[in-house]
Amino acid sequence: MKLSDIRNISWANLLMWLFPFLLIVPNVALCFTEHYSAAACAAGVALPLGVYMLLCALSKNVGRSVLLLTPISIYAAFQIVLLFLYGGSIIAIDMFLNVVTTNVGEATELLANLGTAITVVVALYLPPIVLAIISCCRHLHTADAARSRALAAGLSLAAAGIASLAAAYVGTPGYSATRQLFPVNVAHNTVSAIARFHATRAYPSTSASFSYDAHSERPDTLREVYVLVIGETCRADNWQLLGYNRPTNPRLSKREGLVAFGRALSESNTTHKSVPLMLSPLTAETFGDSIYTVRSIFEAFREAGFATAFFSNQQRNRSFIDFFGEQADTCVFIADNPAAERSDSLLVPMLERFLRQSPARKKFVVLHTYGSHFNYADRYPASCRHFTPDNNAEASAANRSVLINAYDNTIVAADAMLDNTILALSKLPDTTAAAMLFVPDHGEDIFDDYRGRFLHASPTPTYWQIHVPVLLWTSPAHRSMYPTHTAAAIANSCKDVASSRAVFDTMLSLAGIVCNHSRPLRALTSPDYRTEPRMYLNDYNEGVALESAGMRYPDFEMLKAKGISAR
Ligand SMILES: [Zn+2]
Repeated sequence: MKLSDIRNISWANLLMWLFPFLLIVPNVALCFTEHYSAAACAAGVALPLGVYMLLCALSKNVGRSVLLLTPISIYAAFQIVLLFLYGGSIIAIDMFLNVVTTNVGEATELLANLGTAITVVVALYLPPIVLAIISCCRHLHTADAARSRALAAGLSLAAAGIASLAAAYVGTPGYSATRQLFPVNVAHNTVSAIARFHATRAYPSTSASFSYDAHSERPDTLREVYVLVIGETCRADNWQLLGYNRPTNPRLSKREGLVAFGRALSESNTTHKSVPLMLSPLTAETFGDSIYTVRSIFEAFREAGFATAFFSNQQRNRSFIDFFGEQADTCVFIADNPAAERSDSLLVPMLERFLRQSPARKKFVVLHTYGSHFNYADRYPASCRHFTPDNNAEASAANRSVLINAYDNTIVAADAMLDNTILALSKLPDTTAAAMLFVPDHGEDIFDDYRGRFLHASPTPTYWQIHVPVLLWTSPAHRSMYPTHTAAAIANSCKDVASSRAVFDTMLSLAGIVCNHSRPLRALTSPDYRTEPRMYLNDYNEGVALESAGMRYPDFEMLKAKGISAR
């Protein structure tokens, strides 16, 4: 045997032994980040490692074997990036859907701020893949003796893994490989995401026969305008109106007729679930079963005789937000025109134009903002740049104060946009009953505690991702005609609220609409408003008790400090 042959075999052998250990990196990390039992951890490492070893040793052509394992490498890389980003949780069904529903600009904004994670992943998986390609091209093969040893090791590990798997099924309540064994769970989630994607596409036909049987209890002659403003990535803790120690609400803090709810938690930390929850009577418990058949709040208002409009400053996401928005009589996505400027402030003139041009006496409008979505510094004009430095720093815990400055400026911009909306409603004739409800879809992590978590839409929520501000403004005419609404809202403002759950019935209550899906006790304007058990819509589209939704000790401590019930 020539010296070059020995060298080539060494490279091939190295690849055969090394690659399974690189693939198992996320499995080992998950043992530390997840609350898995010992048996689940043992199964989660030994079984996949054994299988990878067997797959790398089965053929002499290890380069080809490694390349055939590319899908697993991609899962592993994606999983490692997520662990950097969220400090835990496996790749969720929602994350696959987010890839489809988030626009390219948003995705690249996020990736640009994940430098360390991307560097680690590239350093781990690029060299073996390059080596595998070279091995294939040069026909490098592993030595028979080394393959035999690897096969024996792989078999032993796989056997130990199967025994651990059996122990996990027997000894760990609720254990399932499709939930806790990487990459089986992620492959399962991929299949679920594809199934959901197809079910979503069939929505227009599966929801065609839905009806609210709604009617208004108010006189036809009464002029009414109701506006729902949907916020984006909005943290209650950064609102001056709710006790924040910075002047982030310079205008709304002086506004009459405003009620702020400080104990509101969203039932989802993702846009594509939270917004449909708000625009329908669905809750965390009913979402999974009914999202494919329910029609939106626009339908209820239209049946009750309202002209309806949906104006959005977000991109279409080919999902329920689009479907629901298109159920309004008028539906405009600003971003449909690629040349258009994208600013939430543009939604107010669109509202004003609609109020001017629509001849209907009763109008219902939803404004969907882009709010405080990362990258924060891109979300506000210079006039709202109250806190500096706010320059585009890399997203890291070390830069938190800069990020918070930029984030707080987005709240100043939201404050101006909401106040302009109220001003637009204030210009209507005195006899118009009008109201504005502001509810954001979810909050955001900004390196708030030792976990170093950032952004939102992680597979499990944090306090910061679900604690949102809710604001209600009613016009003087509405207040004088329906004083119990205002009095009840003030009384309920210090109670626990499930924001996404409260929107539908609060809007219907403000407008005096009754329908076959209304639950009047959920309305924030009801004197009989009842708090319900805290629920959360998890990645599997199951409504679970918030306490079991994956929040950790720091989250429960924050809830306690704010006097918000987790139950
Ligand atoms: Zn969102």
